[in-house]
Amino acid sequence: MSARPLVDHSRLSINTATTRAQWTLAEAIKGYATLGVRGISVWRDQLADCGQKEAARLLADHGMTVTGLCRGGMFPAATAAERQAAIDDHLRAIEEAVAIGAQCLVLVVGGLPKGSKDIAGARSMVLDGLSAILEFARSAGMPLAIEPLHPMYAADRACVNTMAQANDLCDRLGPGVGIAVDVYHVWWDPDLEREISRAGSRILAFHICDWLVPTRDLLLDRGMMGDGVIDIPRIRGWVEAAGYDGFHEVEIFSAETWWKRDPNEVVNTCKERYLTVV
Ligand code: ZN
Repeated sequence: MSARPLVDHSRLSINTATTRAQWTLAEAIKGYATLGVRGISVWRDQLADCGQKEAARLLADHGMTVTGLCRGGMFPAATAAERQAAIDDHLRAIEEAVAIGAQCLVLVVGGLPKGSKDIAGARSMVLDGLSAILEFARSAGMPLAIEPLHPMYAADRACVNTMAQANDLCDRLGPGVGIAVDVYHVWWDPDLEREISRAGSRILAFHICDWLVPTRDLLLDRGMMGDGVIDIPRIRGWVEAAGYDGFHEVEIFSAETWWKRDPNEVVNTCKERYLTVV
């Protein structure tokens, strides 16, 4: 069963990756707010460019809800020193997320260490890495959102590729860890409805875009909602049935299409499609 149609933009968030070729973080905050979008998800590199204090001030001044900080993760590495460096970097990421009032720190967990063919080993490094930062995240009050990525990224970005894997990790780790459900990564999964239901209150974020046919680039050819093959209302219905009532975050990496358009047009298209195909 599909979700009821959305009637306003009060729960629309835009991930700044969607306009990152055109707008700095400061410009995105102002641009989204001007067009009536009240949610935003922020990337750490843009946050660093803007400055944490300035970003926090701009976000507050424009009444923005920060639906996530992108991103932590990338736990697996060939050496113990590199794995420790990743853990140290996470503690900083958690502090940054707290500083801008983010609802969660989004984790893209990492793929195979360089030269490795041991994906099971990589997955256990992810569990170890998460375990190492969890106490700090809990004491900071910052939820960690594991984002399962489409299996085409298993080697280089994330060896957690299904909702079932993410749920299993949450079972092992306990409170403080949840899941970012991104339709782009999980739409194909035959167990999706069941695993979303299993996730329940663990769902910390809901990311939307579309899967284009054909997809011309593994990373930078995501589609605008409605231009591809994902039944977004159906998946939103499952997520809502699981109890999620947070923002819907548009996240589109699109080097050849949306990154070349006027960013105001991009945001207006997101708003229009949000009410018609999400
Ligand atoms: Zn996402």
